[in-house]
Amino acid sequence: MLNLETKVEELTSVGKTAASHLKRLGIETVAHLIAWYPFRYDDFSQLKDIRDLKAGEIATVQGKIELLATKRSPRKKMMITECFLSDDTGSIKAIWFGQKYITKVLENNDSVFFSGKIDGDLFDHYFQNPSFEKVSDDTAHTARIVPIYPLTYGLTQKQIRFLVKHSLVNIKLNEDWLGEDIKKEYNLIDLDQAIHNIHFPDDLKELYKAKRRLKFGELLEFHLQNYLVKKDLEKALAIPLTFNELETKKIVNSLGFTLTDAQKKCTWQILQDMTLKKPMNRLLEGDVGSGKTVVAALPIANAALNGYQTALLAPTEILAFQHFESLKEIFKTVDLNIALLTRTKQLITNTKNQEVEKITKGKLLKKINSKEIDLVIGTHAVIQDKVEFNNLALVIIDEQHRFGVAQRKAIRDKSGDKNTTPHLLSMTATPIPRTLALTLYGDLDISIINELPPGRKKPETTLVDKRDRNKSYKFIEQEILKGRQAFVICPLIDESDKLGVKAVTEEYKRLSEKVFPNLKVGLLHGKLKTQAKEDVMKEMSENKINILVATSVIEVGVNIPNANVMIIESAERFGLAQLHQFRGRINRSTHQAYCYLFSDNINEKTFTRLKTLTECFDGFKLAEVDLKLRGSGNMSGTRQSGLFNNFRIANFNDVELIAETKKAADSISTNDPQLINYPEIKEAAKEIHPE
Ligand code: ADP
Ligand code: MG
Repeated sequence: MLNLETKVEELTSVGKTAASHLKRLGIETVAHLIAWYPFRYDDFSQLKDIRDLKAGEIATVQGKIELLATKRSPRKKMMITECFLSDDTGSIKAIWFGQKYITKVLENNDSVFFSGKIDGDLFDHYFQNPSFEKVSDDTAHTARIVPIYPLTYGLTQKQIRFLVKHSLVNIKLNEDWLGEDIKKEYNLIDLDQAIHNIHFPDDLKELYKAKRRLKFGELLEFHLQNYLVKKDLEKALAIPLTFNELETKKIVNSLGFTLTDAQKKCTWQILQDMTLKKPMNRLLEGDVGSGKTVVAALPIANAALNGYQTALLAPTEILAFQHFESLKEIFKTVDLNIALLTRTKQLITNTKNQEVEKITKGKLLKKINSKEIDLVIGTHAVIQDKVEFNNLALVIIDEQHRFGVAQRKAIRDKSGDKNTTPHLLSMTATPIPRTLALTLYGDLDISIINELPPGRKKPETTLVDKRDRNKSYKFIEQEILKGRQAFVICPLIDESDKLGVKAVTEEYKRLSEKVFPNLKVGLLHGKLKTQAKEDVMKEMSENKINILVATSVIEVGVNIPNANVMIIESAERFGLAQLHQFRGRINRSTHQAYCYLFSDNINEKTFTRLKTLTECFDGFKLAEVDLKLRGSGNMSGTRQSGLFNNFRIANFNDVELIAETKKAADSISTNDPQLINYPEIKEAAKEIHPE
């Protein structure tokens, strides 16, 4: 018998390599395996007579194997396996390429199901590479609605299906955490049935019910956790911070540009919130390049002028460093001590004299604790490490969204005053509609920067056939002659090349040696040492690098206003929202921006998808289109919008279900304010991790 904690290595047929591939998907236990939901299904549930098969269709038949044989293809050196499958109405040939093992698992006269595509023409057709399975009432790969899973290099659909099936058959699941009354009221099936049917539904109706139940569970859990956060915050007190008009104006006047009306409005809303005794809980939404950093800077200055500390958290070290640099500049008219604190690097500076000093972690922690530092910029290490603030009154989180009960508590414990909770501002470029946000986060206030700084032109976005890439290279050269800079983004090509290091390094070599031997080409990827990353970014921002070849590490936040051209290699591998984020890197000044989407693998679907990007510049619309076209679920290689990090199956298209579950959560919390009947929720709420 298995249990949820059983390690995948302990399952029969999972060897060391398979286990390491599974691990790459985050699947380490049986629990992970059964929660690895399919992202789509092939409906092979209707059996056909062989006589009725037509070329071009996808079908399932049942029959007997005859004339099974393997031979070597004359031209290519590939093994071809062939057989005939016969039923009472006729027979059809099946061909597999390069799958020698088939003769080991199938024999003549076996009774099997074949599912797959029928190839050929009117006169002669055959199954090409069909899935097959011996006849039984309990199939996994054929003659049913077959689950298709997000995969990674080295794993097959068959393997995952087998493992999921094996787990489902041999496990006894925990008792359903939803009570009978709720299930009845909201028309929900039992959890174990839903988990079984999300993988192996007998028909589409069952699948629908399974999805509904699982989505309902996720959303309800989410609402109940929010309820706990809210309850926790209702009692909470914050330090009221007064608005220092004089100094704020000084900073604004020294910026070198005028704030947009939207920036002014948002700043004002934030500063107002901070004057209250109740902790601010505000989300600042603004498309890429809309200027969120300054809007965050002014509240930081005000907290410092009131004599209180701020923590600014960024998702990556590069971003943290960049914030350090830009805030140093923004605060040049005030006298603030700013620190950078990441796992590998600690810096301090005073904004009056602008000199940056390296410092040991121990010394920095002391300075933070003694209030010498007004602003600590860093990654999540800042709140997870041994940092003890003296009087932290404001926390700002950039490009990351969810803050659970646990983080709120952790921060309060580090803030230097356990009786108060710091004001919280989250910033994101991921657009969510206001009504949805309100249902999701009841007490969350939202500010939206709904305009870009003046003079920004829409990046001209072009889909380029790879054969035409030289034209784009010529164009880049011209722009560089005019003084501009460019980015080249490379995706992960080889899935085993986890961080895309190999792909990007090869492209870097090619571009620097062959294509642009006379230009300065730089390389940036996640595996570089922190110092190396910073050096590259610094050279880039000083225009000492003409072209930066990078992985998706530069996706969020990177700010090089002088860069106006971008090439995205194998653009079809990215989601639209992500491509839009990339494109946001080159739309940060008044220079016309140009984005070239290179794609070697264009079919009609990818063409339509990428075409949307050339016509639409609205991040929110693109996120919606993306969801519709690619579906949700944790597809490998795609990132879910950060707001929905904890969701495996629900997404923000489930508008009705979000409202329905909100109602359910409200009635549960009214009847059971301590959530005594939901101990798991409390546990889970403690465990939510921001990263
Ligand atoms: P994001 O919202 O993506 O974080 P940033 O804060 O990085 O955007 O700002 C993008 C660029 O726009 C920066 O170079 C910043 O200095 C500049 N910027 C911000 N606000 C304005 C403005 N009102 N007018 C002109 N440039 C601005
Ligand atoms: Mg930003």
